[in-house]
Amino acid sequence: MHERHHSKVLIIGAGPAGYTAAIYAARANLQPILVQGLQPGGQMTITTDVENYPGFADVIQGPWLMEQMAKQAEHVRGDSGATYVGETIIVSTGAQARWLGLPSEDAYRGFGVSACATCDGFFFRGKKVVVIGGGNTAVEEALYLTNHATHVTLIHRRDRLRAEKILQDRLFRHPKIAVVWDSVVEEIVGEQDPPRVTAVVIRDVKSGMLRNIACEGLFIAIGHTPVTELFKDKLTLDRDGYIVTRPDSTATEIPGVYAAGDVKDKIFRQAVTAAGMGCMAALEVEKFLAAQEHATDRHAAHEAGGAIEAAE
Ligand code: NDP
Repeated sequence: MHERHHSKVLIIGAGPAGYTAAIYAARANLQPILVQGLQPGGQMTITTDVENYPGFADVIQGPWLMEQMAKQAEHVRGDSGATYVGETIIVSTGAQARWLGLPSEDAYRGFGVSACATCDGFFFRGKKVVVIGGGNTAVEEALYLTNHATHVTLIHRRDRLRAEKILQDRLFRHPKIAVVWDSVVEEIVGEQDPPRVTAVVIRDVKSGMLRNIACEGLFIAIGHTPVTELFKDKLTLDRDGYIVTRPDSTATEIPGVYAAGDVKDKIFRQAVTAAGMGCMAALEVEKFLAAQEHATDRHAAHEAGGAIEAAE
């Protein structure tokens, strides 16, 4: 039979939001249980250099930061197959990389097509690679890949990037990187036996012209989708699938259920903002439980008062 765990606070998801919620809830003596998925640490575990997490003057590594958070979060548990029941729940399931949706992308995924330069960049040592996207992730991945690849082409569907200016400056200055504007991938071409990518076919969105760019690796960095499938019919999601919470709060429309981090935030999506929301959620949970206890105590006092009166 499956084990059943009961807790005052059940935290679902182990990224910066989940770990921070666990740290705060544990310190409030709420003995939280944190259920982690297949990728404890979340997206930070597939990041390399982290330069903007406060408190670290030197460059730190994403996976290392997550290890530190996990250590700091006391009472962290999570076993598959068990049932978890929480008096309150903090949803911090985060978001996942998005794909282009091309059949050829599926065919070569793991054979030259990747959504994680940190994980797979090493395999492209001495080769040419292409990165798709125009946000921070795409630019960071392009820069990271210059450590391995001989040449990196960044392809973006518009004529300007949305990445931070400082990253753009690094990108444009880098001698190994070329940027192709106003272009989208039509198809990924390669060989079958063994499967390997040899080029991407791109289309200029202004002229409609098609052309091939030779490469052995293709990194897709076009944003993320929130991990909310599980909550689809239970919580209100916005049209992009993010959990809707009350203004200035992590509270959902269900009393006692909170959402923190990338699962509810499509604007900032930083480790530090996710951590901040994890903290907010734990503080709101603490208040909620205290109010519940207070209400229970008042009810018990009222009942006891009634019983005394009845006995007199
Ligand atoms: P973003 O949503 O910021 O960027 C996605 C990029 O992919 C956009 O340029 C978008 O184009 C492009 N795109 C989306 N769909 C497609 C498609 N189907 N075909 C081609 N291109 C497409 O996602 P990121 O993952 O880059 O970043 C997410 C968040 O995480 C951001 O807030 C970012 O600032 C943050 N982040 C911060 C880092 C840091 O601080 N060091 C590191 C990495 C991420 P368009 O511009 O035309 O919409």
